[in-house]
Amino acid sequence: MYLKEEDAKKKCCPVMTRVDKNEPIVSDNIIKCIVSNCIMWRWKQDMREPFSLGYCGLASKPEE
Ligand code: SF4
Repeated sequence: MYLKEEDAKKKCCPVMTRVDKNEPIVSDNIIKCIVSNCIMWRWKQDMREPFSLGYCGLASKPEE
């Protein structure tokens, strides 16, 4: 699913297992998505819309 960065930050990251001194992405022992600070973050590539939506590049591109 495409998400705004603010919403993706609330989601759990399935791959990051260690984060050093990078709070506040660790909360309640869940490591959360760091969105555009992660090399895997992808923006929705639709030039008709601002790049306000994106998705985790580890998953397949969301269907429209
Ligand atoms: S974009 Fe990066 S930080 Fe976010 S869920 Fe994917 S791998 Fe984890």
